Amino acid sequence: MIETDVLIVGAGPAGLATAIALKRGARARGDGAAALRVMVLDKGRRVGSHVLSGAIIDPSGFKGLLTEEEIAKLPVEAHVVKESFRTLLCRGWSVRVPWVPPMMSSMGYPVASLTKVVQYLGGIAEKEGVEIYTGYAVTELIERDGVVVGARTGEKGLDKTGAKKPNYLAGEEVRAKTVVLAEGGCGILTERLIAARGMQGRRPQTYALAIKELIEVPAGTQKAGEVMHTFGWPSDFMTYGGGFVYHVSETQVMVGYAYALDYTRPEIDPFDLFRQFKSADAVKRHFAGGKTVAYGAKVIPEGGFYSVPQVQALGVLIVGDGAGLLDSLRIKGVHIAIQSGMAAAESILTGRDYTSLLKATPGWREMKRVRNVRASFHYGLPFGVAAAGLAWLTRGMLPCFRVPGLEEGDAAAMSDGFRPPAPVAFEAGPAMPDRLTDVFMSGTMHEEDQPCHLKIRDGARCEECRRRFGAPCTRFCPAEVYRLEDGRLEIDFSNCLHCKTCRIKCPMGNIDWTFPQGGDGPRYTRM
Ligand code: SF4
Ligand code: SF4
Repeated sequence: MIETDVLIVGAGPAGLATAIALKRGARARGDGAAALRVMVLDKGRRVGSHVLSGAIIDPSGFKGLLTEEEIAKLPVEAHVVKESFRTLLCRGWSVRVPWVPPMMSSMGYPVASLTKVVQYLGGIAEKEGVEIYTGYAVTELIERDGVVVGARTGEKGLDKTGAKKPNYLAGEEVRAKTVVLAEGGCGILTERLIAARGMQGRRPQTYALAIKELIEVPAGTQKAGEVMHTFGWPSDFMTYGGGFVYHVSETQVMVGYAYALDYTRPEIDPFDLFRQFKSADAVKRHFAGGKTVAYGAKVIPEGGFYSVPQVQALGVLIVGDGAGLLDSLRIKGVHIAIQSGMAAAESILTGRDYTSLLKATPGWREMKRVRNVRASFHYGLPFGVAAAGLAWLTRGMLPCFRVPGLEEGDAAAMSDGFRPPAPVAFEAGPAMPDRLTDVFMSGTMHEEDQPCHLKIRDGARCEECRRRFGAPCTRFCPAEVYRLEDGRLEIDFSNCLHCKTCRIKCPMGNIDWTFPQGGDGPRYTRM
């Protein structure tokens, strides 16, 4: 058994901000930073391996955490110098929105790979004396008399039947005075804790699946710092979906598409929608002559203010995406994640109430201003845009009531009567890879001889699902993990990107997402 003062689960921006703020805060208070043991465990192979984001980062989050010199050295690829919004009407038609609303503007903000940013933060944390151990999945919280007192890491070296192999390593028990959950969106331990303690927010959390590629383009054809956001096609006007194109350098373009997972048509295939988005004239000109070199996917918790759960229980605090801390209008959460980490650190050091400290952050006020925006999009794009405009004009005063949104269970609901989707033809080319080629570029890897981490609870429910919905997991998974072969569901778990879409979207609630052995999964290096 290992003992530490603080155990942080997850080395993303929120977890590392907590760690850095703890060490720096202890030193500033003269509490003896060296004596405070802070341990970070992450299931990725390296720091940043499982981190993916847009990412145009609101730099305000780093203030108070990093020094001016450290902020200046952030691994930023470019700053936004030209920004546009477009409504895509169809593949060939789009309309430029003549004016970027100030609430949405990112002019001057850094464009970065979040993988690289967290690697940078990891380096700073280690210099401060934080212990970071990667390749360890934390699979269980340890509780005593209702207080979280530590966590347990998963076993390694089991074969596919669950028997121990010669390289077997038992899980490790880590006892801590405080556990900080920084697992990211749809974190398994976080969700279990919230469900077990009834800590849910006032509205159920809703998610979007975000799919992203990095495309290399010929030098001299594009301009670093130019960014474009789109909404509309290929989403219908009742579904919250949109895309982005960020020119991170003269030779690299990030292209991404997010699609709300509360869709109800079982034939929807978010990866195909991503490719359709890329095939739009207004989008593809940004990477003409290019070649996709990296790929990834993750879910974004976009429910916003009313979906934030209780963020603390005895012995445990929840920070970042795991607590749904995201501005659901700008779809920006890195700065709020960092602020939540700093609030958590202050709470641990001073004994002050974490929830009150979180509510005093600028990020919380920002979320409150746009608290009804996401729910309004539930009633269609025009209503959502109107609600966003109203929130901006009145600084969040209107709508003054809680707009009803999704109810519990709605997110996975699908309509009966599956009809196979008409195949969509795409121009072949190095910037339009198919799903499996993309998965290869994510670098994802799992030891094949281990128990499958995607467990089907009841095969009979899959039978019913195939009849009613045509097995939607074969379409909503961005990594082609689920396949039907002779009517049987096959699971290629080694392709899994750990995006958790299947946990959210299986209409029968039939997938139990458990942890593969630590170190497995995507190996993002520049997402
Ligand atoms: Fe349907 Fe879920 Fe079974 Fe896939 S795993 S066939 S989505 S019930
Ligand atoms: Fe995402 Fe599930 Fe597919 Fe893995 S299996 S990539 S978690 S949808």
